[in-house]
Amino acid sequence: MQAVLEGRALAKTYRSGDIDVLALRGVDIRVAPGECVAVVGRSGCGKSTLLHLLGGLDRATAGEVYVEGRRVDGVSDAEWARLRRRRIGFIFQAFHLLDAMSALDNVALPARLAGHDRAGARKRAGDLLCELGLENRVEATPAQLSGGEQQRVAIARALVNRPAVVLADEPTGNLDTDSARTVLELLTTQRGEDRGLLIVTHDPRVAAGADRVVRLRDGLVVGDTALAAAGTRPAQLVELEGW
Ligand code: ADP
Ligand code: MG
Repeated sequence: MQAVLEGRALAKTYRSGDIDVLALRGVDIRVAPGECVAVVGRSGCGKSTLLHLLGGLDRATAGEVYVEGRRVDGVSDAEWARLRRRRIGFIFQAFHLLDAMSALDNVALPARLAGHDRAGARKRAGDLLCELGLENRVEATPAQLSGGEQQRVAIARALVNRPAVVLADEPTGNLDTDSARTVLELLTTQRGEDRGLLIVTHDPRVAAGADRVVRLRDGLVVGDTALAAAGTRPAQLVELEGW
């Protein structure tokens, strides 16, 4: 099956003063349609760097990126921006909502930028916010929302243009346990039949909900494990906690 997102031999070297930091040293990763892949590993192992390269937020030093089978690592910044508007959704630890806008307008904005009319964009945004349990919060601004609610708005925003794949960087990192659980459940159930989901996290509980766990250490893949169906995971979860 064609991957919705694939990285091949991805390498990234950051120049920091006189020192080269080898953040990624040749990483292969692939997300199939409908698959949830967790990328795990300690702080500094290269998780965010990998997500940035796969979403075109930064450029690889070497290697290739494919979105829905099309090679895109060499495309222009404008084309990457178009891809991010239409085919790739992002969710960050710090939500990154626009403070001056309502939840509804935050979610509708990417749809407007992708060319949908105002009424259509607002309708789709409203429907998504309802699906995510925020029907009473559509007019609230981010400051009026809890962290968990803000992240649910961010999920709706990431999904509004029906992307092929969603990239999430520590999506529960700023949330309490209950909100984190809700956000994860929504993320995994909202991914749909064909949509891929890549979550980078240092939290074993987050990774335990994935279909597959890719482990990074010092910029290299050191493990790639398919998890059994939900409900039969306790033993593997214990294993994961040993990383
Ligand atoms: P993680 O998300 O797993 O914590 P990162 O991808 O953020 O890891 O970082 C990987 C390595 O690259 C770390 O050693 C980090 O300090 C370094 N790094 C990340 N971004 C930069 C940057 N912009 N300049 C220099 N070094 C960086
Ligand atoms: Mg990180």
